Amino acid sequence: MCSAFLWTGAPETAKDAKVSWASVCTPKKYGGLGLRRVEVWNRILCLRLIWLLFTKGGSLWVAWVKSNLLADKSFWDLKTTSKGSWSWKKLLKLRSEARTFSRCRLGNGSSCNFWLDSWLPQGPLIAELGESGPRQYLLLIIHLLYDSSLLPFSTSRAWDLLHCFSSTDIAPWHKSVWFTGSVPKHAFISWLAVKKRLPTRDRLLSWGLNTPPDCLLCGSEIETTHHIFFGCDFSNEIWTSLLVSCPLSDCLASSLQEVLIWANRCSNDPTIRLMVKLLLQAAIYLIWRERNTRLHDTQSKPADIILKDILTTTRMRLSSFRGSNMDMNAHDSLLTIWFRHFECS
Ligand SMILES: [Zn+2]
Repeated sequence: MCSAFLWTGAPETAKDAKVSWASVCTPKKYGGLGLRRVEVWNRILCLRLIWLLFTKGGSLWVAWVKSNLLADKSFWDLKTTSKGSWSWKKLLKLRSEARTFSRCRLGNGSSCNFWLDSWLPQGPLIAELGESGPRQYLLLIIHLLYDSSLLPFSTSRAWDLLHCFSSTDIAPWHKSVWFTGSVPKHAFISWLAVKKRLPTRDRLLSWGLNTPPDCLLCGSEIETTHHIFFGCDFSNEIWTSLLVSCPLSDCLASSLQEVLIWANRCSNDPTIRLMVKLLLQAAIYLIWRERNTRLHDTQSKPADIILKDILTTTRMRLSSFRGSNMDMNAHDSLLTIWFRHFECS
C-alpha cells in the first residue's frame, strides 16, 4: 500500500513517482523514509551469522559449522568451492564485506589471525604493510600469542556502512520530521514537503498533466512547495499569527528546510522544542490539507480558522500524552506548559 501510494499505484514503473525508491529506503537521519530493502536486510542478517560464528561458542549451529565445515581451517581462508550448503557458500562470498565490520581484540591467538584480521582501526595489518610484511618484520609468530573476540554487531551500523553513509550525509532537518510523539501523518507530509515531493501544480505540469498553474490558496502565483509554505499570502498570514501567539519570534528562516532546522534548536527546553515541532508539522499538514480541500471539494476556510485548527490539533496531541512518560518528565503537565507559552492570550 505504501509502495502504491509513493509510486502512484503502479509498482512496476517509476513514472510520476512521488519519491524515488532509493530515497524511501534511505535511513531517516539521512533524509529517507527508513524502509529497509529486503535484499540489503538479508545481507546484514548474513553478516550477523558470520559475527555469531566468532562469538557464540555455545551455539549448536556454530559448533556444527566448526566441526564439519571449518575443521582446523580459518573461515577467512576457506575456498568458496569447499563443501557446504548453498547458504554457507553465500556466507563465504560475504567475507570481504564482513571484514569491514569485524574488529578483533587480541588475545591468545586461537581464532584471530594477527596479519589478516582487523584488530587495528585502519584494517588488517597485511593491507598496511604489504605481503612482505610478515617476513620483513619477523612478527609472524606473534599472532600465536593472541586471541580474538569480535566487538558487538550492530545492524544499524552495518546498514549505514553498507550504504556508505557518513556524518556529512545527515539531513540537518531529520530530527524535526521524525521524533517521538509526532503525529505520523503530519510527519509524513512534512517529509514529503521538505523533500519537495508533494504533488504541487508545478510538478503536475512537469509530468505533462493538464492543470492550471495557479496557487489554490491565493490564486496569484505559480504553485510550488516553497510558494505554498513561504511565498503565499494565505500561509504568511498563518505564520504571522503564529509568531504573535507563540514563542517563535526569533525564527528568521526563509525556507521549509531552514525552519525545520531552527525548530530543533529553538530552545534549550526539550518540552518547548517538542511543542514547536508539533506545531510546525500541524501547520504544514493543515495548510496542505486546505490546499487539497480547495482542489477536490471546492470548499475553503479562511486563514484564521486554519490557525485555530493548528493550535487545537497540537493541543489535542499534547493532551493525548497525559499519564505517559512524556508527560511525567516535567514538573508541570504538558498542557500547563502549553498554555503558559503558547495559547496564553
Ligand atoms: Zn499562494
